[in-house]
Amino acid sequence: MVKLRSDSRRVLVTGGAGFLGSHLCERLIDRGDEVLCVDNYFTGARRNVAHLMGHPQFEMLRHDVTFPLYVETDAIFNLACPASPVHYQFDPVQTTKTSVHGAINMLGLAKRTGATILQASTSEVYGDPSVHPQPEEYWGNVNPIGPRACYDEGKRCAETLFFDYNRQFNLPIKVVRIFNTYGPRMHPNDGRVVSNFIVQALKGEPITLYGDGSQTRSFCYVDDLIDAMVRFMDTAPEHTGPLNIGNPGEFTILELAELVIAMTGSRSRIEHKPLPQDDPKQRRPDIAKARTLLDWEPRVPLRDGLERTIAYFRKTAFA
Ligand code: NAD
Ligand code: UDP
Ligand code: UDP
Repeated sequence: MVKLRSDSRRVLVTGGAGFLGSHLCERLIDRGDEVLCVDNYFTGARRNVAHLMGHPQFEMLRHDVTFPLYVETDAIFNLACPASPVHYQFDPVQTTKTSVHGAINMLGLAKRTGATILQASTSEVYGDPSVHPQPEEYWGNVNPIGPRACYDEGKRCAETLFFDYNRQFNLPIKVVRIFNTYGPRMHPNDGRVVSNFIVQALKGEPITLYGDGSQTRSFCYVDDLIDAMVRFMDTAPEHTGPLNIGNPGEFTILELAELVIAMTGSRSRIEHKPLPQDDPKQRRPDIAKARTLLDWEPRVPLRDGLERTIAYFRKTAFA
């Protein structure tokens, strides 16, 4: 990666062809960075970044982060990892390898280049939380041998590696714990609740509600999340996180189903299905630290974000 301008920053985004990564690449290019997007296309797609191809500040590399990578860079956003249960449970061993070997390789790269590195961690490190809402100090309640462990424990181990590289090698790190985020370019078949409900409603198919729908989640619109991630990367080195990022507005899954049905004008009915094993009962971020450190606040209410997401799925005809 050769710098185009002496004042531009070379930024590596792993998982850049995914849902969040593609929005991040866009945002970084807009502000003048040179972006190297690395992805193995497991859950991402070229079409997510098709509009960036050919841009002088954008470069795409097909690569699996479980293998070493030698490039020059000033900053790394490490997002590579399948994020939805359907995808991360498809090949659980590969999921853990992606989080753990991927983190080791990207940390090694950061150490060699002196780059600041940000890890996309997750609210799943809190597991099925016994503290509500979850502050960063909470250590979590994770089943280490259950079907979600490949993701949860992989991400927890990645956090451990980040903090050990920071303590041992003085590496500048940033760890964000992302809470459920939604928006355009979510994978239509990834099984996450927002995409599932919208696609089902638009197709007139039954809305699959797992359990009685009383479990809660807090949904953050993608633009708000990217805004916070980019701001966090620009903070002073002593601000390592972990930092919760999300929207504290909390809804039951039944409320979400009813809202999606109403907003799409769908005739779909709700169909109850069994609750998956280890499904967290409630989740809401405590974002006090992010508010203060980043001077940031989620701006997009659920209804507005859903409107934009529904428009995206209508336009792409679920492709
Ligand atoms: P996504 O599946 O759309 O994106 C992940 C990307 O990583 C995909 O493009 C995929 O092809 C790529 N990838 C997977 N394994 C790889 C490997 N071994 N090498 C290279 N690339 C690989 O998911 P997303 O929602 O955009 O999530 C991005 C990151 O944010 C993930 O690390 C995820 O754990 C984290 N996160 C997301 C959410 C959310 O609600 N969307 C919540 C918490 C954390
Ligand atoms: N690594 C990489 N790119 C680099 C530097 C290192 O992918 O530019 C990988 C390398 O494969 C190594 C890992 O990062 O296994 C960890 O690197 P580190 O320097 O911490 O450890 P070591 O090389 O001593 O094992
Ligand atoms: N869910 C649901 N129907 C679906 C998909 C998910 O009722 O078609 C529920 C799921 O059981 C969970 C919540 O919605 O309680 C959020 O699920 P998702 O997989 O989107 O995120 P996560 O559980 O990782 O927070």
